[in-house]
Amino acid sequence: MRIDVLTLFPEFIAQAAAVGVVGRAQERGLLTLQGWNPRDYAEGGYRRVDDRPFGGGPGMVMMIEPLRACLAAARAADSAPAPVIYLSPQGQPLTQRKVRELAARPRLILLCGRYEGVDERLLEAEVDEEISIGDYVLSGGELAAAVVVDAVARLQDGALGDAESAVQDSFENDGLLDCPHYTHPAQHPELGDVPDVLRSGNHAAIARWRRQQSLGRTWLRRPDLLDESTLSKADRALLAAFRAARDGQGES
Ligand code: SAM
Repeated sequence: MRIDVLTLFPEFIAQAAAVGVVGRAQERGLLTLQGWNPRDYAEGGYRRVDDRPFGGGPGMVMMIEPLRACLAAARAADSAPAPVIYLSPQGQPLTQRKVRELAARPRLILLCGRYEGVDERLLEAEVDEEISIGDYVLSGGELAAAVVVDAVARLQDGALGDAESAVQDSFENDGLLDCPHYTHPAQHPELGDVPDVLRSGNHAAIARWRRQQSLGRTWLRRPDLLDESTLSKADRALLAAFRAARDGQGES
């Protein structure tokens, strides 16, 4: 997969994507990441990329022409079709479902805003969709672009080792939250013991316990996710037992 990022700070994206799973994905040739700086496409001695907003008011607005020329250069760098995505607090919220959809594409072009944002005419003419990483305002789109790059890169085939498998991750497993995880030591003098079932060697019992924890956690922390997932009869029974145990009326 190829991701091109238009940003006034290409080094930010390069650094954020240099380590861990995303860094390895690049090394293995699973992901090609290239930054493009609109300033390199700006005219004049000052290489100006922003100007004052019409109508007055605070802040600056990113100008059409440097972005347009930069985008044309990025598009021409590869023949694969690529949607242009503007990272924006006004966009559709990023979800794991959306991440999966983006990860299946051969190429993405991400546009990072700064200042008050980008001239609306450029957005209308060139942008296919807007994505937000949450209901808060960042000072630039780079952090949001780095989030998209990370989430999408780790879903590329071969990016994750077995130990990091995405299958059980939150939102992947029927839209549920992940179960709790434990490692050595099995007993800790202050923080307690690992649940017995995880050391029982009974794989069916372990799978059942993990599924129940996923269901229970989702019910406790994100009940909205349960509304969206279709629970089997067995799932409903596991969840009922979890709830009963919590209420002190039964066993989990
Ligand atoms: N005036 C804009 C508004 O209120 O919609 C916010 C501009 S913000 C200070 C500068 C840039 O940061 C935006 O152009 C966008 O690229 C990025 N940005 C800010 N918050 C974001 C969010 N929640 N998700 C994605 N990008 C964001």
